[in-house]
Amino acid sequence: MSLSNDFYTKAKDLIPGGVDSPVRAFGAVGGDPLFFEKAKGAYLTSVDGDEYLDFVLSWGPAVLGHAHPEVVEAVKKQADAAFSFGMSCPLEYELAKLMSETIKGLEMVRFVSSGTEATMSAIRLARGATGKDQFIKFEGCYHGHSDGLLVKAGSGVSTFGTASSAGVPEGYTATTRTAIYNDLESVETILRDGQTAAIILEPVAGNMGLIPGDKDFILGLRRLCDQYEALLIFDEVMCAFRVHEKTAADLYGVTPDLFCFGKVIGGGLPVGAFGGRKDIMLNLAPLGPVYQAGTLSGNPLAMAAGIKNLEVFLRDKVWEKTNQLGQYLNDRVQKIIEGRSDVCFNQLGSMFTLFFKGSLPKNMDEVGECDFDRFGRFFQFALKNHILLPPSQYEANFLSSAHTEKDLDHYLSTLEQFLKEDQ
Ligand code: PMP
Repeated sequence: MSLSNDFYTKAKDLIPGGVDSPVRAFGAVGGDPLFFEKAKGAYLTSVDGDEYLDFVLSWGPAVLGHAHPEVVEAVKKQADAAFSFGMSCPLEYELAKLMSETIKGLEMVRFVSSGTEATMSAIRLARGATGKDQFIKFEGCYHGHSDGLLVKAGSGVSTFGTASSAGVPEGYTATTRTAIYNDLESVETILRDGQTAAIILEPVAGNMGLIPGDKDFILGLRRLCDQYEALLIFDEVMCAFRVHEKTAADLYGVTPDLFCFGKVIGGGLPVGAFGGRKDIMLNLAPLGPVYQAGTLSGNPLAMAAGIKNLEVFLRDKVWEKTNQLGQYLNDRVQKIIEGRSDVCFNQLGSMFTLFFKGSLPKNMDEVGECDFDRFGRFFQFALKNHILLPPSQYEANFLSSAHTEKDLDHYLSTLEQFLKEDQ
């Protein structure tokens, strides 16, 4: 038995499913999950000492690769000074300044400790600021696991949401309306009753595989929000600094009223943030009536990691490199799959997804047409070849500046071999 298996068996006794986040259990792809002990550059090392080329990158934060020396140094230095104050520190202002100088429309920002908190707080703020209760989310967009946002992809265009988890009373999702991604009509149908406080979406979706919003769709959402006096919230927890050198908002030339961030802005430590229009943000406690708080919010270690991650990203023009790597991969995958009707590939900047279906999906229903068993076989084949892919067809893969063309060639030859063997 491997050490990974051993830890998994033991962990299952104490931690439900042996994991602290369900996707880590490899449920969608079969096989036992791996346990890891080291992450450096583009590689992870398991507790058994096996190295894996990593396309998960902690689900996005490690845009410079794991344990970039400058980020490690910044965290060590901060650890010597303080782990946590429970009071304010200059690093919060520094990261806020760096972000607001970089991101158009981010006039004010508040830090939290996860993406879940960022989206949950942004929705509360939008409701408080508009005096309206309902909000729209899209089937297939994930915004963390707070009750009101944990809504199943509903089939009806304007039906009220249904909780996709046990333990979420219907009342908690009664104000969540679900619409279809890349389908403006499904949005306007809901907006017409004038009850919508906000629309929240991943402008480039990464949680149903990589599906960018169509330009007309994103521009249309801005127009509809203005028309129906609803706020537009871009959840850029995953796509910021990955699909563009700054944000997806820049990619589309659309400024949302509020943004949500996480992952890259914490450099691998637990961080989230929400922010945007100052007049809206001023509704937050202690200034306004919308309550929101956090013991570890603005934690100095997390702030130090986030500042350094972002500074290096901007200073070294990392996006140019990750985008170039993404294009390198895309050009070659497209050649490998040319003429096939069983697989397609989508890439934007440093995110990509291989879908086991003939044409690129535009929404959640279309992702549902993928051959999920085949995805599972590809995952296992890649793993045998020491490549760690996100263990679900519904996830995006990530690239970092630590990846090399040689690493990508390894992915390419593995894919080519798989498609030959798995007819
Ligand atoms: N929003 C998006 C777009 C995400 O991808 C995620 C997590 N993958 C979240 C919110 C929730 O973030 P967290 O897991 O840090 O709570």
